[in-house]
Amino acid sequence: MEIVPVPAFTDNYIWLVHDAPSGETAVVDPGDAAPALAEAQRRGWTITQVWNTHHHWDHSGGNVAMKEATGCTVSGPAAETIPGRDVALSEGSQLRIGDHVGRVIEIPGHTLGHIALIFDDPRIAFVGDTLFAMGCGRLFEGTAEQMHHSLQRLVSLPGDTALYCGHEYTLANARFAIHAEPGNAAIAARLNEVEALREAGAITLPTTAAQERETNVFVRATKVEEFARLRAEKDSFRS
Ligand SMILES: [Zn+2]
Repeated sequence: MEIVPVPAFTDNYIWLVHDAPSGETAVVDPGDAAPALAEAQRRGWTITQVWNTHHHWDHSGGNVAMKEATGCTVSGPAAETIPGRDVALSEGSQLRIGDHVGRVIEIPGHTLGHIALIFDDPRIAFVGDTLFAMGCGRLFEGTAEQMHHSLQRLVSLPGDTALYCGHEYTLANARFAIHAEPGNAAIAARLNEVEALREAGAITLPTTAAQERETNVFVRATKVEEFARLRAEKDSFRS
């Protein structure tokens, strides 16, 4: 599988997932159809599926245009209103691209019906706006307890699982992380790394489950209360 980021809006990433043997291409969270279609066309790829992690417009706003342009199938969370949805996904649902079979887990918190799409071969997961590199999504619909549990599920995946999230927020998250855990050498090292990447205009994703266990303060919060305090503090933090 080849996975390619397509930048959209100010800081979103739409992901193209291409399986060469079958010629299939899935597009994850197309908030805007045009840039994803342009990138697929540039590569000679035909989009056959849309996969949505949650309903927010910057993740699903391009679904209908994508479907009209390509005739693709739209799969998204059963518990949310997803434009153009053909296949409703919930805990334990399967997704397929070529010979690769992925599974769905429900990870409420950012939204109530938010899902993650997980593949074991290769080890990858699309996590939407639940886990960000060194951060996590805001609690728009769910509770701190739900989000805490969802994050723990994601980082309990094998350490080398590549996690693909929906936004380039890593630098701001790293600055908050060093503020929250000033003595953490792994966080300090990653902040330097991320600063260099962003200065060069490079993407900081994907991350891995192992890297998040070491450097994501929201993941490292062992108690719900601690997680809730960090999330509230981050909401008003200015780096
Ligand atoms: Zn969102």
